[in-house]
Amino acid sequence: MISDNLRKVRQELQDSCALVARGADEVTLVGVTKTVDLEQTIALVKLGVTDIAENRVDRLLAKKAALQNFPEVKFHFIGNLQRRKVKSVINEIDYFHALDSLSLANEIQKRAEHVIACFVEVNISGETSKQGVSPETLESFIYALKDLDKICVVGLMTMAPLRSTPEEQHEIFSCLKKLQEKVAQLGQANAPCQETSMGMSNDFSVAVAEGASYVRIGTALFQE
Ligand SMILES: *Cc1c(COP(=O)(O)O)cnc(C)c1O
Repeated sequence: MISDNLRKVRQELQDSCALVARGADEVTLVGVTKTVDLEQTIALVKLGVTDIAENRVDRLLAKKAALQNFPEVKFHFIGNLQRRKVKSVINEIDYFHALDSLSLANEIQKRAEHVIACFVEVNISGETSKQGVSPETLESFIYALKDLDKICVVGLMTMAPLRSTPEEQHEIFSCLKKLQEKVAQLGQANAPCQETSMGMSNDFSVAVAEGASYVRIGTALFQE
């Protein structure tokens, strides 16, 4: 049941926040609906989850169209976005979680009709299978975005490796938090960088302990 799953997730979020003396309202739960149909997505929205994430353009557009009666819903795009698909989706979303190249940034600049809230994806674990800019090149990447006035870097995003230990997760998430603070200190006008998008079903407690402000959760909400 989605409602039972959501209650457990919310409880665990609250407990994780309490452990590190954070308020539960400091963390936004983003429901990742990429594996479920419209009906289940609507069920989640009706239970009060108003941040919805998809990783495919066609599905995001279809769900957005079907959720017109829920104007409170914010749409997040997670995962790889091909340059040629930017045009069709970038003005339909509230947050983009996977900015990781200058060519993608330039395409967003070209197609956006308003400022787009972006998370720069950082590949901290160094896995070659992962998207994201490296921690070493992050600062120069941020500088390179300086004149793109349609891009606002609201924060950084990362993923821990699929089979990582809690110790490794702590290390990766605390690294992202430090990088976020470092970027914020650059004081670049289009990179306030106050947020961290980190933590999924298996590791969101660790991410919250390390300061996550957005957690992206799918499986834990929709499993049987
Ligand atoms: C699928 C996905 C999630 C959600 O993962 P779960 O393990 O199902 O919670 C979060 N972030 C990204 C980028 C994803 O692709």
